[in-house]
Amino acid sequence: MFPEIDQEPRSPGALFDTHAHFECAPEESAAAVERARAAGVTRIMAVGGSEALNRGTEGFRWRAVGWDRDQAGKDLPELDYDGVSAVGEIGLDYHYAPGARAAQMELMGRQLELARGLGLPVVIHTRDADDDTLGLLRDVPSKGIIHCFTGNPRFCRELLDLGFYVSISGIVTFRAADNVRESALVVPDDRILVETDSPFLAPVPMRGNANEPAFLVHTARFLADLRGTPAGDFAELTTRNALAVLGPGRT
Ligand SMILES: [Zn+2]
Repeated sequence: MFPEIDQEPRSPGALFDTHAHFECAPEESAAAVERARAAGVTRIMAVGGSEALNRGTEGFRWRAVGWDRDQAGKDLPELDYDGVSAVGEIGLDYHYAPGARAAQMELMGRQLELARGLGLPVVIHTRDADDDTLGLLRDVPSKGIIHCFTGNPRFCRELLDLGFYVSISGIVTFRAADNVRESALVVPDDRILVETDSPFLAPVPMRGNANEPAFLVHTARFLADLRGTPAGDFAELTTRNALAVLGPGRT
């Protein structure tokens, strides 16, 4: 069992990493949490999606468990959603997994229904699957987070219209990611979130390293500059948004 991690904030300008994965040993996760806290990232949501990733969320105050697109078509065990802040990550990826669309949609749709029944927000991954994602979200009215947004501003607006929060990852710092920067500018102050998606997608200037929650400060600073918001205000508003959608966590 993962040791309990104290994630109380130390300062009001502290950042909330709304999306981090921990597939590593518990001691390594605890060390990463401690480095994050020292950097000013005082809250983290640990996110599942596979059996190993779901296990890696144990012990965190904010955790999401669910089955991602790579689990589509598999025989999956029941998950325990007691004390969980969200269902996720779930969703569609036609970039890396262009086959199995029907199975991905079935798995996502089933978990949207489940989250709605439990009254929980969902954490959605969507890549090169705009129309099917919107179709499912219109079929099953849901609340939650579009994580690691990589679409265009038009898709972003449609998701905002459905009531979703949009979470921006370190991709926004990559040179080729004009679409993510343009999209980040259409998200209003009361719907934007920040995340690392660690251990993937380390932001500039940490590219090439394994990502970790402490590196969120680079993405947050970049986004604050992009949006013309003072860094302290940006930390405060993104943290307020995260708490609004995810709640206080297990206390
Ligand atoms: Zn993820």
